[in-house]
Amino acid sequence: MPYIPTIGLEIHAELKTKTKMFCDSLNDPLERRPNVNICPICTGHPGTLPVINRVAVESIIRVGMALGGDLPVISKFDRKNYFYPDIPKAYQISQYDLPLVFGGILNGVRLTRVHLEEDTARLQHADGGDSAKKSERRVSLVDFNRAGVPLMELVTEPDIKNADEAVSFAKELQLLLRYLGVSDADMEKGQMRVEANVSIHPDFPGSPLGTKVEVKNINSFKAVHGAIQYELKRQAEVLDSGKKVVQETRGWDDVDQVTVSQRVKESAHDYRYFPEPDLPPLDLGKIDLKALKISLPELPWEKRARFLKEFGLSAVETESLIQDRRAAQFFEEAFSEFKLEHRTPGSREIKLLINYLNTDLRGLLAEKESNWDDSKISPEHFADLIVLISENKITSRSAKDILRRMSETGLDPHAILATEGLEQVSDAEVLRGMAMGIIAAHPQPVADFKKGKENALQFLVGKAMAELKGKGNPAVLQKVFRELLG
Ligand code: ADP
Ligand code: MG
Repeated sequence: MPYIPTIGLEIHAELKTKTKMFCDSLNDPLERRPNVNICPICTGHPGTLPVINRVAVESIIRVGMALGGDLPVISKFDRKNYFYPDIPKAYQISQYDLPLVFGGILNGVRLTRVHLEEDTARLQHADGGDSAKKSERRVSLVDFNRAGVPLMELVTEPDIKNADEAVSFAKELQLLLRYLGVSDADMEKGQMRVEANVSIHPDFPGSPLGTKVEVKNINSFKAVHGAIQYELKRQAEVLDSGKKVVQETRGWDDVDQVTVSQRVKESAHDYRYFPEPDLPPLDLGKIDLKALKISLPELPWEKRARFLKEFGLSAVETESLIQDRRAAQFFEEAFSEFKLEHRTPGSREIKLLINYLNTDLRGLLAEKESNWDDSKISPEHFADLIVLISENKITSRSAKDILRRMSETGLDPHAILATEGLEQVSDAEVLRGMAMGIIAAHPQPVADFKKGKENALQFLVGKAMAELKGKGNPAVLQKVFRELLG
């Protein structure tokens, strides 16, 4: 029997703030020593009082604005109560009924909400040494560096239809968080964590949604895909065999590529949510929302649409720039150096620009382990190089050499051509391209030459020499013109 899949995502992202959510301990995800960035507040000592991190609140508001969500007049924090060593207060400060953002949309998927909470401590299960009893050897260590780090949680409506859409959604959200500068959102580093709610129901009109299973412990985009695919198949097999899907939390096992039952799903009332008495409600009227709105950069989907239209690049070429904002900026700056006639969407120069940027320039940066910021190649000089290639003044072979020299010297390609002895243009392939242009532009001398006037040939060679600023190899030029006109 065919089934219709339904997927909703819950995505957490650690915010990139200087300090933690409710105290001034450093939020430093790179800190390797355990329990360094801690204080009585984030280690949950009794009697301590939290203070709200303004930047964290503003970050969530900016995310909400970018996603077209609604901001409430008043938002508040709540206690989510549970007992576990990663949260010594025995509650997490989170948001329940008044999150910072309601609704919004991303990739056509409706969002339920975006809220702010604190991350928990990191548990490390380790071998405790040489005790005789195995049970005593297994110890769990707690690192509070992560405890109290501001955490965004975004919840989608069950609008997602398959694993590919779920992955695209998560990738686009990651890109947005990076554009906004609110999170590095690296899944492998645990900075972005995806939980997938998955259900299936029979394919007939009016069939209600099936029982959902929540899959946790998903640490890469590949795992998002694998976990959903596996769960869809598993649930279909359960239903096919006449059984019911159990509502539960399962964990993705990346080694065995299966989901494993963890616990029967708790519901909201198990957490006994209640308003956090130690924090005042957040009055959004007191936040300068206009300033936050103005602070939004061009968003990924806006840039994507503009690039497709302005440059006439392919979807794949466009994406290579959208995914790398510094590359996109370099591309645009180089483009802006082009003459007007080279700027029409899909022009030869634009095609050369994207190709040389994505292959030669990126290759050179990778080889030198440098990035766009410390590269000596300016967009202006890169544009000059592209024009030289487009006008057939240099071959792709010499373009590579010149580019390398540009990255070493910071000089423009003309200066390098002049000083490096590369000026003598003898490459028949390059000269032929140029000669063809000159032949097309001068029909009269061409006709004269064909009637036997040798002088006409000198005229054409002279034209080529002028274009090459005297740097063409005259013998090769003569030969090329004779071949083309012969
Ligand atoms: P709970 O109260 O169990 O946490 P929610 O209604 O808050 O459930 O939904 C949690 C997530 O599960 C959301 O992302 C939502 O879109 C998704 N979801 C809800 N119902 C289903 C379903 N039947 N199948 C798949 N996902 C679902
Ligand atoms: Mg829920």
